[in-house]
Amino acid sequence: MLYIRFDGPPSHESGRFIEIERDGESISYGEWKQDGDDWLLVIPDTTQLEAELNALKNEIKRLEGEITFCEGCGREFGIDYKPHYTDDGVSLCSDCWAEVLAGGLIQQE
Ligand SMILES: [Zn+2]
Repeated sequence: MLYIRFDGPPSHESGRFIEIERDGESISYGEWKQDGDDWLLVIPDTTQLEAELNALKNEIKRLEGEITFCEGCGREFGIDYKPHYTDDGVSLCSDCWAEVLAGGLIQQE
């Protein structure tokens, strides 16, 4: 957690900014920018970073074989999933495999 310290509570005459802290230590975080007569403390939006981190964690799981993606429909499967492989080495879920067996076309990139 990051803590933004002020010398008073929020009110119509709000407390003044003192510092940003992490684990009780003052840190430098964000970037001050003037915006007309005001000043902005611009802080990175961590929701985007969290989404990217989750995507990377999923990619690691996939690379470690914990998650497999059907290359036909893109659905995600767990470690117990046994894909079917086409002659070209494309891994497919049962539904997509059934389409192949039925003579349907699988869209590939
Ligand atoms: Zn599929």
